[in-house]
Amino acid sequence: MARDINAKCRKCRRAMEKLFLKGDRCNTPKCAIIKRAYVPGVHGKKVSRNSSEYGMQLAVKQKIKRIYGVLEKQFRKHFDEVKGKKGITGDLLLRRLEMRLDNVVYRLGLAASRPQARQLVNHGLVSVNGKKVDIPSYKTRVGEVISVNSNKKGKNYFKNLDQIIKNKKDFPSWISFDASSLEGKIIKEPERDDAGINIDAQIVVEYYSR
Ligand code: SF4
Repeated sequence: MARDINAKCRKCRRAMEKLFLKGDRCNTPKCAIIKRAYVPGVHGKKVSRNSSEYGMQLAVKQKIKRIYGVLEKQFRKHFDEVKGKKGITGDLLLRRLEMRLDNVVYRLGLAASRPQARQLVNHGLVSVNGKKVDIPSYKTRVGEVISVNSNKKGKNYFKNLDQIIKNKKDFPSWISFDASSLEGKIIKEPERDDAGINIDAQIVVEYYSR
């Protein structure tokens, strides 16, 4: 069988779970998790999850990092930002990740996946309160308006966005979105369940407390 060289799908297969990194393809039978339901590598079919406590904590941390597409250094930075704040640190960490600008762009439906959303931000196509922000990790705040830069709205990509938004069924309750102006507004901070992932992020706190 041909080797799967698709890096994004390999991440899902490593996590043994759909992480939805490739937009529309993730919801089709072409998804590698459906086609090849074992971890990548020549011994993949024989590999089982590491059942030690450390292994479990590490796996949870890696999974959250993969979902949001954040590398260790940035992930640890987000953890340090919320550590010691009032509330459940794991939930605060998920909230911080949700409020990353690239994630908000993805949640708005301006991109089909988080990697694509990050590209849009990196390429300077996104504004916050009318001012260009090209930092994917930027922490959005309640009341801020996230939009496509006015001088970029004419791009074919955004002209074709109608269909993507039409297909989108999971707009979050914490953001309002005006499809005609391609503008979203953060109306409240997301709650734990808004992340839509069945993970106890508090396990990450245990991992970093070792
Ligand atoms: Fe690939 Fe998406 Fe399926 Fe993950 S969920 S394996 S990224 S198609």
